[in-house]
Amino acid sequence: MMGRADAIIIGGGIHGCSTALHLCLRGFRPVLIEKDYAGRHASGVNAGGVRQLARHVAEIPLSIRSMDIWETVQDLVGDSCGFDSHGQVLVAEDEDELDICRARVADLHLRGFTHEELVDGKELRCLVPAVAETCPGGVVSRRDGAADPARTTTAFRRRAEELGTIVREGVAAAHIRREGKLWHVDAGGETFEAPVLVNAAGAWGGQIAASLGESVPVETVAPMLMITSRVPEFIKPVVILRGRKLSFKQFANGTVLIGGGHLATPYQDTNETVLDWQKLQESARTVWELFPVMRGATIVRAWAGIEARMKDDLPVIGPSAKHEGLFHQFGFSLHGFQLGPGAGAVMAELIATGNTNTPIDGLRIERFA
Ligand SMILES: Cc1cc2nc3c(=O)[nH]c(=O)nc-3n(C[C@H](O)[C@H](O)[C@H](O)COP(=O)(O)OP(=O)(O)OC[C@H]3O[C@@H](n4cnc5c(N)ncnc54)[C@H](O)[C@@H]3O)c2cc1C
Repeated sequence: MMGRADAIIIGGGIHGCSTALHLCLRGFRPVLIEKDYAGRHASGVNAGGVRQLARHVAEIPLSIRSMDIWETVQDLVGDSCGFDSHGQVLVAEDEDELDICRARVADLHLRGFTHEELVDGKELRCLVPAVAETCPGGVVSRRDGAADPARTTTAFRRRAEELGTIVREGVAAAHIRREGKLWHVDAGGETFEAPVLVNAAGAWGGQIAASLGESVPVETVAPMLMITSRVPEFIKPVVILRGRKLSFKQFANGTVLIGGGHLATPYQDTNETVLDWQKLQESARTVWELFPVMRGATIVRAWAGIEARMKDDLPVIGPSAKHEGLFHQFGFSLHGFQLGPGAGAVMAELIATGNTNTPIDGLRIERFA
């Protein structure tokens, strides 16, 4: 069976779903192909951090555009996505780290970005009362927060479908080819054709790009998370450390999500990951040292998600350098959840108008040429 669409999107993570939704808002009728189900991979199992804080400058305009969408996400998708905005705080553990924070904030201000504010020890303890007395300060980004990742991706997928996206789940996009002016993609027993193809295939995006002659330096990784038993409420913002691998968030029910970038072993072909309990123990020990209030908590569950990490830790967003009608949106390197709403808007704008008002020059695929 042959189906005609305005665009074919490969991947039903937050990025594919967001692009589908924003294309519909611009009058396109896309088809979205997902080999498992929407949100099965990184977009459904991440820490839910909605963070402008501590981003590479090349990503900041996109992150700010995304933040504006997060703040009105209920209007866009008809669901709050569990988004709350209690800020994110980066903690410096000593004066050297605080000096690095000071220089970073000053540099951002010179560039016109004011979302990061330096805080001293007193202000840090107002924001995060339970932090160890030895921490001299940090940085806060007050509009940041957190959301429920699976709920968010589902809400974007559902709204995209309501607005006209054809969704195919449980079938892999295969035999991707360009014939004349159209892209053709097989999906199960169907073939779709469209003038536009979006590669939003997450950890599989590099393989798709390479199969179309655009190899990029990307590896598959599996960041781990763990969740604790309930403890009395002691923290509102999401906390990350300047020096050590740790991020930290307490839910309304008292449980605490601990992450920060320690990696499991990914088996991408079988959708499996094997956890590294030694590394998880390291994260638990860091929490134990910095937040005495956590010392009675137990770990109740741990997991990992499969994600693409680029060599320069920046995503690939924008048109192909090689093929007309092909757009890449993958490689989010452990921090693409917050960018999802904005990246979908930018991608739809690029596809519909050939341009975008959001600077993405440092994120295009040709940086690897
Ligand atoms: C444990 C963990 C914690 C994280 N924490 C945060 C955080 O707090 N904040 C933050 O901003 N980011 C975070 N991230 C990163 C974030 O989750 C990812 O960057 C983001 O979800 C990537 O979205 P995506 O749509 O590109 O990829 P994915 O969600 O992986 O979606 C890609 C989809 O493409 C599908 N696909 C692949 N190949 C094909 C094919 N041939 N045919 C059809 N479908 C295909 C896959 O099945 C997959 O569902 C975290 C990631 C992990 C794993």
